[in-house]
Amino acid sequence: MKFKIKRKKFLTILFFVAGIIIAASLFFAWKFIEGPKLVFSGEKIEQGDVLVVRLDGVWRAPAEARLGSKPVSFFRRGLSYFAIIGIDAKSKPEKIPFYVKLASGEELTSQLTILLGPVKKTKLVVSKEMTKQGIGAAALINNIISNDKPTLDSIFKIFTPKIGFSESFINPLKKWTDVGNFGTLRQSSGGSVRHFGVDLKADLGDSVFSINDGVAQFIGELPDYGKTVIIDHGLGIFSGYLHLSEIKTVVNSKVKRGEIIGLVGSTGYSLAPHLHFTVKINGASVNPRKFLDTVNEFIK
Ligand SMILES: [Zn+2]
Repeated sequence: MKFKIKRKKFLTILFFVAGIIIAASLFFAWKFIEGPKLVFSGEKIEQGDVLVVRLDGVWRAPAEARLGSKPVSFFRRGLSYFAIIGIDAKSKPEKIPFYVKLASGEELTSQLTILLGPVKKTKLVVSKEMTKQGIGAAALINNIISNDKPTLDSIFKIFTPKIGFSESFINPLKKWTDVGNFGTLRQSSGGSVRHFGVDLKADLGDSVFSINDGVAQFIGELPDYGKTVIIDHGLGIFSGYLHLSEIKTVVNSKVKRGEIIGLVGSTGYSLAPHLHFTVKINGASVNPRKFLDTVNEFIK
């Protein structure tokens, strides 16, 4: 009798454990039985958007991938491969093919559509102090075009093939209050300039956090951008923090997600303390808020 009870109990546990193992195996096998599949965060994307592509059902990284003529890099996360692609704010609105050649030689293609994004227009304001110093809108724009922008563009060209982060992205400030939209065209009689970052409300001296793990690829003070930190997160993804009052990291140092890399300021061309926050993906200017939301939603 005693033996029978023990045997029954043993068989129950055995079936239970076997059931779990079979269910888990089926779950993991399912994605591969289904075959290779591409999933997009959106098939109609606006200028300045971030596109996340998930590749399911493959064991090895793809041999090649392109959006239009531009190469795309995939990285592994869990059972899938992912790519984070920037749709530059100035990219042509058009239908564009997405192409992947798998390690097996099989090819997958999809058609995506890039739509025109909204472009707000505002006045480019030059402070009284700058006017007193003889710096007008034309000189300001000329310096951005000939000095500050090329300096940072040379950094954004760097491609670190290894992914530098393993967790979600965070905000660069404790509170996100947008006071200067991404993509706005700032106009004046002396010329105009597009605002390829977002201005966030902050007080002088507020802590500025690295949005994820990475390497401080650029640290310096530029005439218009002021004290600037650029973090390389790998795979061509960079975050930039401008107009700082103080820089709290050194060039080439490894930074952690949430680490204080500087303090909010008003250095360079800035009317009041705020944080100009920017994100670039392989040179593409993208809306930083959309970057944080899309990547955090689609890559778990
Ligand atoms: Zn700004």
